Amino acid sequence: MDLVIRGLEKKFGSTQALHPTDLTIRKGSFTTLLGPSGCGKTTLLRMIAGLETPDRGDIRLGEEVIFSSAQRLEKAPRRRGFGMVFQDFALWPHMTVFENIAFGLRAAGRSKELKTAVQEAVEMVRLEGMEQRYPHQLSGGQQQRVAFARAVVTKPQLVLFDEPLSALDAMLRDELRMELTSLVRGIGLTALYVTHDQLEAMSMSDEIIVMQAGRVIQAGRPEDIYHRPSHPFVARFIGKSNWLDRDKERLVIRPEQIRWAHGPGTDAYRGSVRSISYLGDRYEIQLDMGSLGTWTAYHRERMPIGRELEIYVAREDIHEITTLREAANQ
Ligand code: ATP
Repeated sequence: MDLVIRGLEKKFGSTQALHPTDLTIRKGSFTTLLGPSGCGKTTLLRMIAGLETPDRGDIRLGEEVIFSSAQRLEKAPRRRGFGMVFQDFALWPHMTVFENIAFGLRAAGRSKELKTAVQEAVEMVRLEGMEQRYPHQLSGGQQQRVAFARAVVTKPQLVLFDEPLSALDAMLRDELRMELTSLVRGIGLTALYVTHDQLEAMSMSDEIIVMQAGRVIQAGRPEDIYHRPSHPFVARFIGKSNWLDRDKERLVIRPEQIRWAHGPGTDAYRGSVRSISYLGDRYEIQLDMGSLGTWTAYHRERMPIGRELEIYVAREDIHEITTLREAANQ
């Protein structure tokens, strides 16, 4: 069942954490709320979880209303039955891995299926043999796997993730990012994931909802968000952007679309190398483009600082931002 949000709004004193917002999270999708710190993504997630009360609006899961300001209806978090995975793992320190995972099933009185369900979840997250350990006897990655198993063992209709990988080191984060994505897809879960990390959002999601200052700026597939941003903020926040009209920020080209040879349908631009960074598989070059500002491009070889050169842009690679929204300028 889809999760449908209509006119949802939240203020903390004079801070508008969420402006009136409509959203649909499709059943079976991996949807990510992406935006900079303070944009309201955690507040939105917490309102869906039932941990924060919205000022106004409705939240429905299929036909079932779980919050409605008009109907004065608010289902308790536990009765919503959503799985939750947080940044700080939030495991019970005095319970073993087995008991942590079993917690939700016990609370729901589902003791008959308990042993099999917990064992299945333990195998799914590859923690066989660690069932009797306590959280402090596990690494960060293992703790997060327990948190995931605990969140999904009850087969919830929706699993909410609040920056679950941000406390882990970079390598483990990459590993768990892939593992988590395949687990979520493998069980066919509906996932709503909060992050400020664009790479995480791009690589894991079916749908990304970009937020800024309490508003949804754009929602769409990762490919659309990247190649067809609907606002300069989205172009700047996700990936790197080169502007053909620096002041208006309507015409954008991505660095990998900068060409080094003339071809049909391309226009030439002159610039000079301002700085260069080695990325292992390529060089990232900052170009001084005069009145167009600084551009980023990629090249296979190192170039001397100050070199004057010509670069080429195919007209078909220029994306025009047509649906300017004022929200992100506030
Ligand atoms: P982060 O990634 O830093 O967690 P976020 O995008 O999740 O940021 P929120 O935590 O939702 O943002 O916060 C949105 C705004 O609401 C911020 O300005 C924040 O200071 C404010 N806010 C959040 N919770 C409260 C609260 N309990 N009391 C007062 N203000 C709050």
